[in-house]
Amino acid sequence: MAGADATPNAADTTGPTRIVVVGGGLAGAKAVEALRSAGYAGSLTLVAAEDELPYERPPLSKSYLMGETSFDEAVVLSADWYTDNDVDLRLGTRAASVDAGARCVQLADGTDLPYDKLLLATGAVPRRLVVPGADTQGVHYLRTRADSDALRAVLGPGHRLVVIGAGWIGLEAAAAARHAGAEVTVVETAEFPLLGVLGPQIGAMFADLHRAHGVDLRLGATINEIVIKDGVVAGVRLGDGTVVSADAVLVGIGVSPDVALAESAGLALDNGVLVDASLRTSDPDILAVGDIANHDHPLLHTRVRVEHWATALNQPATAAAVMLGGDVTYSALPYFFSDQYDLGLEYLGHVPRDSDTSMVIRGDLSGREFVAFWIDRDSCIRAAMNVNVWDVVDTVRPLIVDSVRVDPVALADPSIDYATCVR
Ligand SMILES: Cc1cc2nc3c(=O)[nH]c(=O)nc-3n(C[C@H](O)[C@H](O)[C@H](O)COP(=O)(O)OP(=O)(O)OC[C@H]3O[C@@H](n4cnc5c(N)ncnc54)[C@H](O)[C@@H]3O)c2cc1C
Repeated sequence: MAGADATPNAADTTGPTRIVVVGGGLAGAKAVEALRSAGYAGSLTLVAAEDELPYERPPLSKSYLMGETSFDEAVVLSADWYTDNDVDLRLGTRAASVDAGARCVQLADGTDLPYDKLLLATGAVPRRLVVPGADTQGVHYLRTRADSDALRAVLGPGHRLVVIGAGWIGLEAAAAARHAGAEVTVVETAEFPLLGVLGPQIGAMFADLHRAHGVDLRLGATINEIVIKDGVVAGVRLGDGTVVSADAVLVGIGVSPDVALAESAGLALDNGVLVDASLRTSDPDILAVGDIANHDHPLLHTRVRVEHWATALNQPATAAAVMLGGDVTYSALPYFFSDQYDLGLEYLGHVPRDSDTSMVIRGDLSGREFVAFWIDRDSCIRAAMNVNVWDVVDTVRPLIVDSVRVDPVALADPSIDYATCVR
């Protein structure tokens, strides 16, 4: 059963009476909301290291960074909601460790929080750049509201930004910086942006997109050092010795799951926290959701850990149901979106790295209006990405879920209805 269908057993009198959720991101907020919606009336604490009300991060590299939307629009639940729903929201509070045997969370301020069920939603942290000068003032990362505010302050006409890494966040920030009028150079080790996720064909399309918007894209390039002048960033030195001058550098080289707390609890870890189909960790009283959860996906028959907004949004309902005694699993397909300039896209499905798939393009790749499909050797669609074409996800989802075999030639023809592409 998918997260959306999860049916908790809130009336179970033997159920938990003390639930602690650690992590005040989207997943943590959705978890406490789901618990109260499910009728859970026991004590409920949300421990959140940041000082802000839990908020959604996608706008931090898009509309919020560009000053087009307010922070309030990114907040998941109002302050009143937590009060009205009797959630003990501990902002600016870090959980330091978990004693799983004693079923107790120790907060950094020394407080103990006993629990019957514990949900970890500690998210991910940016990977740090390791080159000389990487700690210099003017080197930015982008994960929090404060990061986005600090970056926004150095964008604008006349400013020069070097983005290290042509992944999603680096490219979105590059687009926002161009929008603000900054000069932008993107440095990427691979031969194409997003190569590992999307392959060379679509990677080349993203390279064209950014170059068309005035980004100086340095592909196949490495960083030797951050160049410093008067104690602040003055540029980056590439592997070939070239120096690219900059007033600010944004490092966007991926994130790592924040498993410190899970580790203290002695949970099984491997690329995040290992959770079963029902999002339970190796300790049945501790569950994990969102960016940290390496999930045994019941539909895809493989482990999936993704850093997607939709997973943080949807997994908590299943976790809430499971904590309240429900027998449910999470089976929604991974889904994400991105916006860069006038390009919007959605991606549905999962293609493990190095899997044997071929690509079918339906529409106009160079015109940036198409749907890309990743097809496996059995002619089944494993993932689809619609770019500036909409209302595709709901049509394609059953084809992926049911492993429907398709005719790639028909699929590539936009004039042929999807139903007719089935073999
Ligand atoms: C700039 C940016 C843009 C993005 N854009 C997109 C997008 O366009 N599409 C998409 O699908 N996804 C996007 N994402 C990814 C998406 O935001 C994440 O997948 C999502 O935020 C994960 O939510 P989470 O609640 O699991 O973790 P997080 O959002 O990382 O929240 C975890 C929280 O837990 C806190 N925490 C950690 N340890 C402790 C502790 N010990 N005690 C207390 N609190 C703790 C952290 O401080 C953090 O506030 C973007 C992410 C970023 C950063």
